[in-house]
Amino acid sequence: MSSPATAPGKADALADKYDGIVFDDTPVVKYGDTPGWEILRRVAEPVTDFADPTLTTLIAEMREIMYSAHGVGLAAPQVNRSIRLLVYDAGDGFRTLLNPTIIKKKGDQFEPEEGCLSIPGLRGVVRRASEIVIKAQEPDGKHVQFKAKDFEARILLHEVDHLNGVLFIDLADPATLHMLTPAEDRGEVGNAPPKE
Ligand SMILES: [Zn+2]
Repeated sequence: MSSPATAPGKADALADKYDGIVFDDTPVVKYGDTPGWEILRRVAEPVTDFADPTLTTLIAEMREIMYSAHGVGLAAPQVNRSIRLLVYDAGDGFRTLLNPTIIKKKGDQFEPEEGCLSIPGLRGVVRRASEIVIKAQEPDGKHVQFKAKDFEARILLHEVDHLNGVLFIDLADPATLHMLTPAEDRGEVGNAPPKE
């Protein structure tokens, strides 16, 4: 199905190419749908060349895609690049992490329900650690290590999973998986759960 005639440029052109993009016309690789979607199941490669100018462009594109899709996180495989790069915003601003590794996990959290920009409309309950310690690199190559909890931890765990070919549907309680209506998914009615 094509996106509405009013949808702008790139997303519209991409949506026209595929069937099945009903809820989401952003240029994100859709599980089981976008040609080459199997990239979502691949273990992504470490980033080694921090001087690569295409990295800056990619991060800027991912930022735009994430916000325009009302997402809270996005991993490079979701935009067809199998590298260990993620972007997110847990409410404290935009952040980019490269080569992230979760080094500690503790506690449990079950809310909010998770969604994924690569699996439009689907939501489900995923048990996640409530506190993590993550180490990673920033776009300039600088090494960082920090604690994250609650929603930020959930986002980071979801995005790091993407870099390992793991999707939230692998971890969700199957009984809780359900589809939102298109209007709910776009955040037009009710409280749209986050999309990662
Ligand atoms: Zn996702």
